[in-house]
Amino acid sequence: MTDTLTLNQVEAILENLGWRIRTAGERRQAIRNFQLAWNLGPSLKADGVPGPLTSAALRISESRRRAGKPTASAHFSFIEFRCKCGGRYSSCARIWIQRSTIRQMERYRAESGLGISIVSGCRCEEHNRAVKGALHSQHKLGKASDFAPARSVAWFTDRGIFKPGGLGANPARLVRHGDTGPNRGWSYST
Ligand SMILES: [Zn+2]
Repeated sequence: MTDTLTLNQVEAILENLGWRIRTAGERRQAIRNFQLAWNLGPSLKADGVPGPLTSAALRISESRRRAGKPTASAHFSFIEFRCKCGGRYSSCARIWIQRSTIRQMERYRAESGLGISIVSGCRCEEHNRAVKGALHSQHKLGKASDFAPARSVAWFTDRGIFKPGGLGANPARLVRHGDTGPNRGWSYST
């Protein structure tokens, strides 16, 4: 099918995938964030308008969800990257993960052979503050993911995963942080 979904259909699917939609503005924002997470290429602008390409992508994600498969990529679902504030903050857009971050997570999974849990993905301003995240945290931009289990920094560096970007481990070394923000060597704090 190549036809365009109705706005009601779009809204129902986005809510099934983990977004929150209370107003027309939130619906437009959720569509835009879905488009950014899919990144269908230069032919699809993240314009918040559900045309044929976006409708087709929404149908794929929804049919994967119904089949019990990950909705965002081969092994990851949008909802895994959702801000962990639980919707407590009214301005939280819930999910705004960038495709580049999902791609790096897929690479980690493929090359490590591990099952991966996302510990922290998107963070709204308020939630980032509540968890004492860095002031300019890449989590706020949807470019970061904290995940477990971890491999060493050297293991990632050898494979160029999350490069360019940032990489770090918490002091217990149980969780690894990866992001697709500016390329930098950095020491991880939280
Ligand atoms: Zn939030």
